[in-house]
Amino acid sequence: MPVLIYAENAEGKFKKSIFEAVSYARAIADQNNTSLTAISIGDVSTDELAALGKYGADKVLNVSNDKLKNFVNQAYASVIAEAAKKEGASIVVLSNSFSGRGLAPRVAVKLDAGLIDGAVSLPDTTGGKFVVKKTAFSGKAFALTELTLANKVIALTPNTYKVVETGATAQVEDFSVETKESDFKALLKEIVRSTDKVSLPDAEIVVSAGRGLKGPENWGMIEELAALLGAATACSKPVSDAGWRPHSEHVGQTGIAVSPNLYIAIGISGAIQHLAGISSSKVIVVINKDVEAPFFKVADYGIVGDAFEVVPKLIEAIKQHKA
Ligand code: FAD
Repeated sequence: MPVLIYAENAEGKFKKSIFEAVSYARAIADQNNTSLTAISIGDVSTDELAALGKYGADKVLNVSNDKLKNFVNQAYASVIAEAAKKEGASIVVLSNSFSGRGLAPRVAVKLDAGLIDGAVSLPDTTGGKFVVKKTAFSGKAFALTELTLANKVIALTPNTYKVVETGATAQVEDFSVETKESDFKALLKEIVRSTDKVSLPDAEIVVSAGRGLKGPENWGMIEELAALLGAATACSKPVSDAGWRPHSEHVGQTGIAVSPNLYIAIGISGAIQHLAGISSSKVIVVINKDVEAPFFKVADYGIVGDAFEVVPKLIEAIKQHKA
């Protein structure tokens, strides 16, 4: 019984979090002495699809259907579940991304499967059990969760499993599925970009700022730093509550959870509710004038200093580096 991985694309390209999920699914397939099939939905080039073999996929099912061009939660879940049935896969892996978090429980229901979202480890199969470590309480703790049902769905937290390159190429096959009208009750008619900026939920670099910035008029340097780094901008809750920034930028327990490779926190104290949304960031850089700020405890790199002095210097250094 092969393992199935859903390889989500962003405008026709796969991100690093997908290569992590493919590598992770490959390791599960090896544990079970079986093969790994990936499924991709939407417009992705054959070369891009075949490259999933580099991370361990033996085969890629390509679903290219006009009705499925844009993400539709229920319809995508049906297609993934159909692919699992066709392949006889009892384990389905997804990335615990913004859309993966919506898909995983729907796929689990369709397959009568047990679900682990926010997985951070490979399954421990000692004694014939299937136990996976996952994040709990908004990332404040870990739980060891056992799946006892035959079918299993696992959503892997980005940045918790390293990309492993096997160097192979996957065989790409077209996969067509009859879509049901009932799967299109909620339809995505059009994507209207409110901004050309990088989207926060799946951003690889995030520049985030808090109340230490004093007021909305000081966000110019945050925008400039983010633009130079190709990053999304984010903020703490009080900042969006005060209307300094839009609510769509609010990160944390009551906001968006992000998993970037780099999270730069500027003038944010590091309250537990904020950390809940950023704990799976790979590298955390903190800029704060208070050496006692709790954020420094979780930082990989810390700069104790005034944001109004440090950030312009950082911008200047990046500009010089790029010149
Ligand atoms: P502050 O706590 O005021 O910290 C400002 C920081 O800026 C300080 O550390 C200060 O030293 C530093 N600073 C000041 N001036 C400068 C300067 N010139 N240069 C550099 N540093 C400077 N918060 C969230 O962010 N997200 C959530 O999802 C969230 N959910 C919550 C849910 C609940 C139920 C509750 C009760 C609270 C929640 N909060 C959340 C609020 C959270 O507890 C904190 O109050 C909030 O995160 C603090 O925001 P802040 O760090 O921007 O501001």
